[in-house]
Amino acid sequence: MNPVYSVVIPMFNEEEVIAETYARLTRVMQEMAEPYELVFVNDGSRDKTAEIIAAFCADDGAVRLVDFSRNFGHMPAISAGMEYARGDAIFIIDADLQDPPEIFPQMAKKWREGFHVVYGQREKREGESLFKKVSAKIFYRFIRRMTSVDMPVDTGEFRLIDRKVCDAVNALPEKSRYIRGLVSWVGFRQTAVLYVRQERFAGQTKYPLRKMIAFAMDAVASFSYRPLKLATTLGLLISLTGFVYLAIILYQALFTCTTVPGWASTTGIVVFTQGIVLMILGLIGEYIGRIYDEIKNRPTYIVREVIEKKSEV
Ligand code: UDP
Ligand code: MG
Repeated sequence: MNPVYSVVIPMFNEEEVIAETYARLTRVMQEMAEPYELVFVNDGSRDKTAEIIAAFCADDGAVRLVDFSRNFGHMPAISAGMEYARGDAIFIIDADLQDPPEIFPQMAKKWREGFHVVYGQREKREGESLFKKVSAKIFYRFIRRMTSVDMPVDTGEFRLIDRKVCDAVNALPEKSRYIRGLVSWVGFRQTAVLYVRQERFAGQTKYPLRKMIAFAMDAVASFSYRPLKLATTLGLLISLTGFVYLAIILYQALFTCTTVPGWASTTGIVVFTQGIVLMILGLIGEYIGRIYDEIKNRPTYIVREVIEKKSEV
């Protein structure tokens, strides 16, 4: 029989926290007193994460481990969890306990009231660097500006989604999976639950600046081509400025006696415009790269094995 609740937990090198995560999730789920399953997705961890969960699988029938063949990333890990989840309502939560599972009952209540998506919205973030806080704030607002999909701010993947939403998102064919965007995109009735984002229980963030930038780029490029339009506007503005500048120089050369010594300004302008041209070329490249990725049609992730308790018959 299918469980009522599934919990999807992506994990990458989380050996320090994962046993505690399992314990806390189990406590919360048992208090909710409905059949549940915990779908742990091991995203190619290089530490003991998978072994720890595999050990729980041996005697807890509610635990399943989807083990990737290598590290595919946070979003592919959640995608896999959503595909393997069998519940009527699916919770998505990070492995590091920054998002408290204790508000699951609150989310489930909203779900029972008829909402299809109940996302956790961060009222406050604790124990994170100022840089992370500020960059996250900017990120959410920037994405909202850049895309035409109504994406709530200060909201990560921490949420409950209904089976219908899960199926709808799973059915989307795209390979570039910005989950929170896709969930917003499919629509249905959505609502928020406010919470305070805690400090990581243990371990380091798996999102260094490099990954954060790639993530932001992915988010924008897979939901909007507004940057390309921006490029057009910028190009137009610059050429207009250039035109006016040229007219002034021509006027000066023909009708006044001022000689034009300005090689420095010329070089400056050339470098400036060249920079912009290159930047825009790069931008177009980003989109072409994504088209290339989609066209190749490779799977988002590869599963090495699924571990779960053998059912007693
Ligand atoms: N994660 C993952 N694959 C990755 C990077 C991260 O599955 O390549 C998981 C990680 O184990 C955690 C979640 O994604 O459960 C969020 O990562 P993290 O907490 O490091 O991000 P932050 O909260 O610092 O933004
Ligand atoms: Mg975290």
